[in-house]
Amino acid sequence: MQFFSLHGKAPKVGFKEAVIKGIAPDKGLYFPEIIPARLNEVFKNIDQYAPNELAFEMINPFIDGEIPEADLKNIIEDTLCFDFPLEKVEENIFSLELFHGPTMAFKDVGGRFMARCLSYFNKEQSNEVTVLVATSGDTGGAVASGFLGVKGVNVVILYPSGKVSEVQEKQLTTLGQNIKALEVDGTFDDCQALVKEAFLDKEITDEIQLTSANSINVARWLPQMFYFAFAYKQLKDRSKPLVFSTPSGNFGNICAGIMAQQLGLPVSQFIASTNANRVVPNFMAKGEYIPLRSVATISNAMDVGDPSNFIRIREIYKNDFELIKENLSSYSFTDDETRAAMLKVYQETGYIMDPHGAVGYLGLKKYLESNPGATGIFLETAHPVKFLDVVEPVINKKIAYPPQIKSVMDKKKEARFISSYAELKDFLLKVD
Ligand SMILES: *Cc1c(COP(=O)(O)O)cnc(C)c1O
Repeated sequence: MQFFSLHGKAPKVGFKEAVIKGIAPDKGLYFPEIIPARLNEVFKNIDQYAPNELAFEMINPFIDGEIPEADLKNIIEDTLCFDFPLEKVEENIFSLELFHGPTMAFKDVGGRFMARCLSYFNKEQSNEVTVLVATSGDTGGAVASGFLGVKGVNVVILYPSGKVSEVQEKQLTTLGQNIKALEVDGTFDDCQALVKEAFLDKEITDEIQLTSANSINVARWLPQMFYFAFAYKQLKDRSKPLVFSTPSGNFGNICAGIMAQQLGLPVSQFIASTNANRVVPNFMAKGEYIPLRSVATISNAMDVGDPSNFIRIREIYKNDFELIKENLSSYSFTDDETRAAMLKVYQETGYIMDPHGAVGYLGLKKYLESNPGATGIFLETAHPVKFLDVVEPVINKKIAYPPQIKSVMDKKKEARFISSYAELKDFLLKVD
């Protein structure tokens, strides 16, 4: 399997090189040259596949021998060391809980998978790799935890000062070892821009081997396909049309779901639910893609003004706007609507949603209003405890820290504050 750059001006590469490079030399995202054969028989007989086996069937065609099957199976087993339960919330509405991993956010799977692939590819090499990543909150923690102690890899995380939750900040800044955190005076978009600039800076790339761990990296993006299949596997009644609502920021997760559908997973509609950062809902309404500056919301992991993976969705649908509209719906919700949904669902069912999951829930409800016969699943992308400052006042109830969180809260934050590209460059060239 070859991956090409969506900017069309870089050589094709195999999986290994796509993972190590992260982004193509022409700044384009890598995309598989062909969509692998449909796995119709696998999905038809899904009950006979263990989750790990299912994951293997889905991702192996993309890796196409660049990681031998036995090693890939080990990587998958090591990645998927927790559960993805599907919880019924209301009639025909389910929550797919993706937050049972080490950092309690769905990015754990992509982070762990990528770290293990990179470490596999790097084991023949002596030079170190530096993973440079911008985070709006959860990516950093998942990447840091996924890479902690992985030999030959340094991780540098940029996060927007004051714009991540206390739990998130602790998860980013307390690990030590090969993980370094940079607190950026700016927004997530600024962090992402700094990262992009570093990747294009020859003075840096001549000195150190940089790679990205944002959802643009194929090794972070593709394993997210598994969630949608795991949800389907857990459904008892598969007779109705299935719709997924994904709370979306950079649109990697939903794009992976769409890729799972391309592989034959029977999904009838995807719903991209966003907060006030409504570039994609605007696009779906008008057919014009206009990036905006991101605005801060209570679902801060989705505060993205120019979602990097949306171009992959357009590629899957060959940039055919009508085809995109047939398969994808997109709605935006305010913080007030999100809080109201959290409260209503808690009062009526006892189920506690985090602000991201609540945006997903709202998108699903909206879609089901006009499509009542479907089974709806929203992705619960973070444990409510990661957004305590938002959740507790809304539902008026204390939430206890799970052990994964408790263990970081008492540790001391270690981060360097930066406010310019020059400071980032300086740091990277000195990092040891
Ligand atoms: C990253 C994140 C999202 C958005 O996922 P994308 O793949 O970037 O669209 C949603 N919720 C949470 C909790 C996240 O951390």
